[in-house]
This record gives sequence, structure tokens and C-alpha cells, in this order.
Amino acid sequence: MAQVVKRAYRYRFYPTPGQAAELARTFGCVRLVYNKALEARAREYRVEGRRVSYAESSAMLTRWKRGGEFGFLSEVSCVPLQQALRHLQAAFANFFARRAGYPAFKSRKRSRSSAEYTRSAFRWRDGTLRLAKMDAPLDVRWSRPLPEGAEPSTVTVSRDAAGRWFVSLPVEEKITPLPPADAAVGVDVGITALATLSTGEKIPNPRHERRDRRRLAKAQRALARKEKGSNNRAKARLKVARVYARIADRRRDHLHKVTTRLVRENQVIAVEDLAVRNMVKNRSLARAVADASWRELRGMLEYKAAWYGRTLVVVDRWFPSSRLCSACGALREAIPLNVREWTCACGAVHDRDVNAARNVLAAGQAESGNACGAGVRPNGETSSAGGR
Ligand SMILES: [Zn+2]
Repeated sequence: MAQVVKRAYRYRFYPTPGQAAELARTFGCVRLVYNKALEARAREYRVEGRRVSYAESSAMLTRWKRGGEFGFLSEVSCVPLQQALRHLQAAFANFFARRAGYPAFKSRKRSRSSAEYTRSAFRWRDGTLRLAKMDAPLDVRWSRPLPEGAEPSTVTVSRDAAGRWFVSLPVEEKITPLPPADAAVGVDVGITALATLSTGEKIPNPRHERRDRRRLAKAQRALARKEKGSNNRAKARLKVARVYARIADRRRDHLHKVTTRLVRENQVIAVEDLAVRNMVKNRSLARAVADASWRELRGMLEYKAAWYGRTLVVVDRWFPSSRLCSACGALREAIPLNVREWTCACGAVHDRDVNAARNVLAAGQAESGNACGAGVRPNGETSSAGGR
């Protein structure tokens, strides 16, 4: 049965200098309103011990806009400012429900610059997108079509650290699940290969990544040498962000292809829990990049599995996937990271990553109670539940 899912389509766009200035001003106002409202709520909670409602913070915004020190807030579209208050409201709701930590202030340097427009503040017609307070439509590169008949309810405009501009349009889309598959696969994400499968296949890193990583390291060293607060430092920071964005983009494209394929071919997909990776002390650049793509891979697998009727099993965080022989189940002492191949007492010769992927699959099958794709028996002591 087809299901309707919410999905965001993101596109790059190229603002005119006037649009860029208007948007930069709007981003600044969004940040200010968010931070001021957060401050007011925190004070109210501290002094009076009570929560502030959305209606109250909205009334505050009206007062700020009326004039005086913050009168300039009335010069940008009011919708993104209202939306900032809604986002804050949601952040507090998540905090009180213990789903998230206490809302943090937005920083000009560290937070993503963005503004959300609702229906009343944008017009979307015949492939053109026009925002409130702007005379010309945005020059959007529609790199892939929106689904037939899509009616975006909001538009979020953002600019990343590399200075690139994006619009994101959430739309409802009908997804038809794939017919059931027989296969199951375990996935190990690493550094030398992007991913290793329990089938023995190694999916290589994206092309050019080694070179890009070297460039990134060089740009980071250059940044470290620049004087704090100087113009050259800002330039060097932008350079780092640009190289990083290129690596991340190529990885994301690659990961989309890989995850779509894994979901298409397999009924059950097993991966390791993130906490394992966090315990690794070695924070090399390659490791940082691999960790980031691990998170992304897992996120993609999660939603694609849900869309297409597959099962994603996340294996226990204490599972010693690389130290366990996938043939006999014997556990050996820690294996140094540079050892890529080892021989078990039972005679089995293991590629480190393939062996890990096989163990992840076996543990995943034990956890999900799924019997398909037999071959490896999980070791009793290590198949404890705990992963989700
Ligand atoms: Zn063995």
C-alpha cells in the first residue's frame, strides 16, 4: 500500500545583491528575535517559575517592532520572525518532554542562517518562487522536479558556512513500498572503504576524496595560522568551509546511491550503533569524515527502510564486531587499527571489515528475530538486546 510521506526538496539558488542583502537582514532579525524571546522566557522561568506561551512571546514581538531600539524589526517580513517564535516554542516543548536539552542561543558564526516563510509570505506558481518583500522571483536551480501536484506549505531559505544559498520545500509525496526481498545484509562503515558489506563487497569512497581531504587539511592549517578577528582569517574560514562542503556533497550523493541500492536489494539491513564510533579516540580528519557519513548513512537507511517496507536493525553499542570470529564465534583481544587481515585459531582468515559486517548482520538477525540469510550464528554472549 502506498503511503504519503513528508519530504523536503532542497535546491540551490543565486540571489541578486538586493535579495542577498534583504535575506541577510532577515536572518539577523530571526536570530535576534529568537535570542530575545529565549532570554525573556528564561528570565520569566527563573523569576516567576512559569512558562511563557506562544501568544505572550508574539505580543512581545509586536512591542519590539513598535519602535525604539528594535524598531528595525518591522522592516523585514514579519512571517519568518513569527516562525522563529514557533521554533522556539517547539524547542521548549521538546525540552519539557525530555526529548532535547535546554534551547541554546543562536550564534552568528556557529548557527545556520535561515528563515522560514509560510504560505502568506511566498508565492509559488508555474515553477517560480517569490518571497515577501522581494520584487523578483528567486533564481532557483531546479535540479530535480518537485513531485506532480506538489504544494509546498513552507519555504525555508538558508545560507551555509560556504556562502551557498538554498531553498527547502517540504512536500507530501506518495511512496509505494518495494516488493519483499529475500536477502539481508550487514554494513560496516570505515575509512579505507566507505562501507563494507557482509557479502564481502567493498564500496569505495567517492572519487577525488583523498585529494579533497588533503586540501581540507591544508586549508585548516592555514586557518589556524591566521590572526583572530582578521579579514584573512574570515577568508581562510570560508575556504575551509568550501572544501568541506564539496567533500560532504560528493559523499551525500554517493550515500544516496548506496542506501537506495541496499534498501532495494535487501529485506533486512543491520548497522552498528553510533556510540561505538564515539568511543574511538583517534580523531583524524579521515575519521571525522567517516563518522559524519556514518550518521548520514544511518539516517538515510532509517527513512528509506520505513518508506519501502524494509527492516533496519541497529546493533548493540557494546557489540565487539571486529574482534569476533564470524566463522566460529571466538572472541579475540583487541586488534590494532592497522591490522586489516587476521587469522582465527579455527583457521578462518578474515578481512577485518568484512568480518565486522558479517557479525553485524548475525547480531542484527538475532535481534530482529529474522531467520533469512542464514550463514553465521551469533555468539550467545554478544547478542544481547539494546540497539533499537
Ligand atoms: Zn574462528
